[in-house]
Amino acid sequence: MTLTSVLNYFLTFSITVAFVGCSSLKNINIPSEIQAKIDLINVQEDQVFIEITPPKLNNTEIVFYIPQIVPGTYEYSNFGRFINRLQALDNKGKALEVTSIDENSWKISGAKKLSKITYWANDTFDGPDGAQIYPMGGTNFEKDSTYLLNLHSMIGYFDGLKDIPYRLEVLSPETLKPFTSLPVFSSSEKNDVFLAQRYFHIIDNPILYSAPNAVSFDLDNIKVGLAIYSPSGKHKAENYQSAIQEMMVAQKKFLGQANNTKSYDILLHLMDMNDLQYFGGMMGALEHHTSTTVVFVDDMQSEELTQSLVDVVSHEFFHTLTPLNIHSEEIHDFEYNKALMSQHLWMYEGTTEYFANLFQINQGLIDAQDFYGRILEKVQFSSRYDDALSFTEMSAGIVDEPYASNYANVYQKGALINMCLDLIIREKSSGEKGILWVMQNLAKKYGTEKPFKDIDLINEIVEMTYPEVGSFFNMHVIGNTPIDYTTYFAKVGLMEGEVNSPLPGILFQNKQMPFFRPQANSDGVVQYVVTGLNSTLESLGVQLGDLFLGLNDQRFPEIKPENGDAINAIFTPTFMWGANKEFSVILQRDGQELTLSGTVGEPSAIVQGLVENPDAPQAAKDLRNSWMFN
Ligand SMILES: [Zn+2]
Repeated sequence: MTLTSVLNYFLTFSITVAFVGCSSLKNINIPSEIQAKIDLINVQEDQVFIEITPPKLNNTEIVFYIPQIVPGTYEYSNFGRFINRLQALDNKGKALEVTSIDENSWKISGAKKLSKITYWANDTFDGPDGAQIYPMGGTNFEKDSTYLLNLHSMIGYFDGLKDIPYRLEVLSPETLKPFTSLPVFSSSEKNDVFLAQRYFHIIDNPILYSAPNAVSFDLDNIKVGLAIYSPSGKHKAENYQSAIQEMMVAQKKFLGQANNTKSYDILLHLMDMNDLQYFGGMMGALEHHTSTTVVFVDDMQSEELTQSLVDVVSHEFFHTLTPLNIHSEEIHDFEYNKALMSQHLWMYEGTTEYFANLFQINQGLIDAQDFYGRILEKVQFSSRYDDALSFTEMSAGIVDEPYASNYANVYQKGALINMCLDLIIREKSSGEKGILWVMQNLAKKYGTEKPFKDIDLINEIVEMTYPEVGSFFNMHVIGNTPIDYTTYFAKVGLMEGEVNSPLPGILFQNKQMPFFRPQANSDGVVQYVVTGLNSTLESLGVQLGDLFLGLNDQRFPEIKPENGDAINAIFTPTFMWGANKEFSVILQRDGQELTLSGTVGEPSAIVQGLVENPDAPQAAKDLRNSWMFN
């Protein structure tokens, strides 16, 4: 999975605002298939009707499950809470006794007579609990305009029957077409039939129904598809084809033989601002074996959406390496209703995120300064989380506290752990090998069908490489000693220095901090005081010490935690503003109110960054070269 950096910026604001106040039984017969039917035509109260027909059962009772947890999300989702009015029926339509075991499982008595289970499924994009589900792993039912079907929130499985095939029939409005990597058995105007080899494939292949807006193209030996649902209709799939193409060709080159994916589908579901607010600014993507679901906001400018797609889809595509081709038994035999987590999030998410940045400099998609900026940003963002937490311990316990609230660090420190390992291996091998070489070899040895033993992985990597790699793991990944990144930067001739950094919006003085800070005045009233500037604000004439009262025509309500959402609602749209957007800030200076206007342009600021040390020894420069370009 990935959460986009927009989330990081958004968190910056949430944090600012928040601190504003002063301070069973196995089935033994050999069944044929499970039939599942979803009706997207007769939607009632934003819920869709679902029928599940199991094969003939010999059990006296059987448990039906909707997943509590699904691969790639590392949190309790409890999708059973979106299921209503569940009934078990015999072949005469008579109800059998159903006992709810917990919110995700139901025990059906008289299972020998069971003909089908029926229920209504609610979507996660609205309603009371939906905001707790990552939108890229959720469902959206918008009658006659789109259906985003992450089937783990809709289709369940029977105890002991996870491995038999599913035949999935979907009734849909004529105007909407499905897009999915699930094999299609038959398709007509209003009726599509898909086949899944087993339950895992039901949840590994989400489906997007929308008005036709898709492209498909061949790259070497991989077939790529991109479908977009855009509420405004302004984002067209063909406009993003070339960027995706360039990126995936570069990824294939970077990965070399470690990749043998035959087809890859990108389901891009754009949401409007209200949905973005509903999810607290959360966007991102969830990985699958041959597809990914990406959720961004429709208001993004096309250049910004392009770069976000490149960053996020490249991350998801690198998941075809790990966990998809390199994973432990916990992931291979995934328990959807019991949390059994692997220790190796440093790899599943960390390596993936590291590669999603490294390949861009390696293949010339970004320049060196951009790459250094991304690395330093990870160092800075990772400081928001507990740095003295064993990464393996956190990973194994990730669904519960105190680990769960440190989850997002897998994209920050997780990536940096891989950078350090990469540099150690590069240094020891005179630049020849790095962490990519390790992953290529692990993928060769394991692959999609052969899991490793969770406890053995690190020793195995150390045996393949150097004792120094073992010391690093023991100290900083298994152990809880924070990493001193400066020593690693010095290895490749980098040091801190001033750089002109592009900023994610007009609200920033650097990538971490807004240009204002909440301060109480002598009467105890909290106000936003301007504490830093950027190029755009300077050109408008904003000055340090001004009071910041509002944006455009919107004034901030009283600055206190209860108004956090209302204040964020004023801030959030600024992340989507393009360079030509005109805006104004309402200020107070020396007791006088004033409004300053201008265009967004490209806000930047001189900040402390990572720069190349001209006096670094040649060996460090050589190592830097092999790190970024080998
Ligand atoms: Zn991921």
